[in-house]
Amino acid sequence: METHTSPQASEDRQAIREAVRSLCKDFPDPYWRAVDKEERYPEEFVTALTKSGYLAALIPEEYGGAGLGITEASVILEEINHSGGNSGACHAQMYTMGTVLRHGSDEQKRRYLPAIAEGKLRLQAFAITEPNAGSDTTRLETRAERKGDRYVINGQKIFISRVKQSDLMLLMARTTPYEELKDKTRGLSVFLVDMRSVKGKLEVQPLDLMINHHTNTVFFDDVEIPADSLVGEEGMGFRYIIDGWNAERILIAAEAIGDGHWFIERASKYAGERVVFGRPIGANQGVQFPIAQAYAHIEAADLMRYHAAAKFERQEKCGAEANMAKLLASEAAWEAANVCLNTFGGYGFARDYDVERKFRETRLLTTAPVSNNMVLAFLGQNVLGMPRSY
Ligand SMILES: Cc1cc2nc3c(=O)[nH]c(=O)nc-3n(C[C@H](O)[C@H](O)[C@H](O)COP(=O)(O)OP(=O)(O)OC[C@H]3O[C@@H](n4cnc5c(N)ncnc54)[C@H](O)[C@@H]3O)c2cc1C
Repeated sequence: METHTSPQASEDRQAIREAVRSLCKDFPDPYWRAVDKEERYPEEFVTALTKSGYLAALIPEEYGGAGLGITEASVILEEINHSGGNSGACHAQMYTMGTVLRHGSDEQKRRYLPAIAEGKLRLQAFAITEPNAGSDTTRLETRAERKGDRYVINGQKIFISRVKQSDLMLLMARTTPYEELKDKTRGLSVFLVDMRSVKGKLEVQPLDLMINHHTNTVFFDDVEIPADSLVGEEGMGFRYIIDGWNAERILIAAEAIGDGHWFIERASKYAGERVVFGRPIGANQGVQFPIAQAYAHIEAADLMRYHAAAKFERQEKCGAEANMAKLLASEAAWEAANVCLNTFGGYGFARDYDVERKFRETRLLTTAPVSNNMVLAFLGQNVLGMPRSY
């Protein structure tokens, strides 16, 4: 169900939904199963999505993109996950686009956006997290020191996804030491790093994770980048990243909704077909009701996702709604994942049914890119005015 939208906008979204659905049909379960098992990057899928133009949804038309809004972008990611795929392979381009569009220079946009839209360059790496700064971004330690017309980067990032599959990286680093700051949210800066020019200087060590996410530890050891890699003003990076958080939360919510529908559809179908004690297991309320309950939770979360997206499109404050959408959708998807696994019994653990893969993949959405505890803290502290824990 889509709310707060004109009939035309709604029709356009339906057309996008169907087109992405059709593209995803070329990448059925066995494709994603094999990619997962071989821990491969879904290169073919990402190339097809790029060629279709959908990955450039948020790039304005003047730079060769589709110039669509956050709602349409969210529908694209939702449908990838709904099809059984994993938009985690390529979503960062949408997550980071707001920061580049709002705060990047004209020169940066002209240099990179048309090439990204054409599929010649990928902006799929977003480097924030560090070993000593996960949820607490203001404690970042990676330094970027200005030396003439260069910045010299030193430090370590962890959990940075798709570094090897990307040409560009949006990097956040410290430009003023923490101790020298009065306002601790200052002193961090964002850089659009062209990784082609620092090849061989970045040390990238893949992490062994429970999902196929191409996530790495990245070491910067005197890595020099041109000073014009800086996005916006020096020291304002934290503010710029926060600006992008609402979009990111809405997009993750949509991915979770897509997963949720996948689990519900698979569970309902299997419950109707699997016969135990002489009747389909779905006739038993112990099997049927949890599926119906999870479905209701997904539909409710979806309303909040569209509500948040509509406010975002109208440029209204939407922090509360975007955070609630992320919270409700990721939890509803996780509920649906468990219900689906229960419905499949032992077969849920068999790779050939894809439930265990999607189960692992959807679990991430409650934790990254932001943990639901941080979402609750935002609601408790910023919306409800309760005492702060940080
Ligand atoms: C597969 C994967 C891919 C990722 N990709 C990227 C990426 O591309 N780029 C990137 O920058 N990062 C990435 N991340 C990192 C991710 O964003 C962080 O893991 C996440 O933000 C949490 O940080 P942390 O792991 O350091 O947890 P911590 O900050 O150590 O927190 C641990 C737990 O304590 C809770 N906690 C901490 N303080 C409080 C408090 N005050 N109140 C209540 N609870 C609290 C947290 O919510 C969390 O549950 C990725 C992570 C994973 C797993």
